[in-house]
Amino acid sequence: MEGQNQNRKRIYLASPTMHGLEQEMVKEAFDTNWVAPVGPHVNKLEEEIAEYLGVKYGAALSGGTAAVHLAMKLLGVKRGDVVFSTALTFAATCNPIVYENATPVFIDSEPDTWNMSPEALKKAFEKYPHPKAVICVHLYGTPAKLSEIMAICEEHNVPLVEDAAESLSATYKGRQTGSFGKYGIISFNGNKIITTSSGGMIVGNDKEDIDKARFLATQARDPARHYQHSQIGYNYRLSNVLAGIGRGQFRSLELHHNLKKKIYETYKAAFADIPEITMNPLNPDGEANYWLSCMTIAPDCGVTPLMIMDALDAQNIESRPIWKPMQLQPVYADCDFFSHLDEGSVSEDIFNRGLCLPSDIKNTDEDMELIIKTIRGVFGR
Ligand SMILES: *Cc1c(COP(=O)(O)O)cnc(C)c1O
Repeated sequence: MEGQNQNRKRIYLASPTMHGLEQEMVKEAFDTNWVAPVGPHVNKLEEEIAEYLGVKYGAALSGGTAAVHLAMKLLGVKRGDVVFSTALTFAATCNPIVYENATPVFIDSEPDTWNMSPEALKKAFEKYPHPKAVICVHLYGTPAKLSEIMAICEEHNVPLVEDAAESLSATYKGRQTGSFGKYGIISFNGNKIITTSSGGMIVGNDKEDIDKARFLATQARDPARHYQHSQIGYNYRLSNVLAGIGRGQFRSLELHHNLKKKIYETYKAAFADIPEITMNPLNPDGEANYWLSCMTIAPDCGVTPLMIMDALDAQNIESRPIWKPMQLQPVYADCDFFSHLDEGSVSEDIFNRGLCLPSDIKNTDEDMELIIKTIRGVFGR
């Protein structure tokens, strides 16, 4: 069995897709010798992404994780503070809380969008009325219930950070995700909808804040002739070479979005006759960016995510488990967690029954057919 398809090219979950313009932009950086974490591509990428999102300012950084970290710095998160975070996410959403020695408290998902549950968030506020911040995620590109989450945050006068690392080009009630919170986080990692190979951005509407993010990201050098520092800084700026890749990629964002959407719809149609399969939810109040197509399997139907991942793997097809929720992570075992349910949790249930399907926009119709056939086979269809 195994090895029978060793010669077939690998089908990826989500790999970078370059179009040519990226290389021209990189060449421009070389030709002008802006081969440094500063330069015209960095400035233009900041302007272009901020304008696209409908926010005033953005600082281009070495990664989305750096952007979350600087958001924590800007909010003054420190030892003794509590920060509420989405539980069902990648660890980069909440690790920066701990970089600042603060304590994360995890909020379960609701089943409608898989994102931060407003009900669980309310429960958390009952026990911790004064968290320093709330950070919510738009998981796999589906917008969270922002109106409800923002109303709760406003009621308690607590700033919201939107981790839109996975959701660039997704909208909620007509506006871009990442533009609602006090700060928005964007990632340009290699697996995201557009990439700079590695990179990210923090965006917002307060010029002073975003200027400060840029200052902290360039080693916090005071405006003095000599090297003077009144604060601890970081080396978090994005290279001008990589910003060139990003500017090229940005021209294809809409194309990538449309191709991702087509992948999701192809899976949805292909599994429509298998009641045990449910595709990851969308939000009727918005438009997802369909970054990753995911599915959950009905409980106790004899098929597990692992069986599907193994069957795909045997065909040299990459798939992944759902992010393991933070309340189940050894490193966060001591942290408080608020469930959407009275018993168990929505995030753990999604983790147990779900998986991420190949969502690479370079996959051909034949690739999609093979993936679908393989998955259908596990269900005996
Ligand atoms: C990718 C990702 C990040 C981190 O972004 P990097 O650019 O890899 O540092 C943060 N949060 C979520 C939800 C992500 O998926």
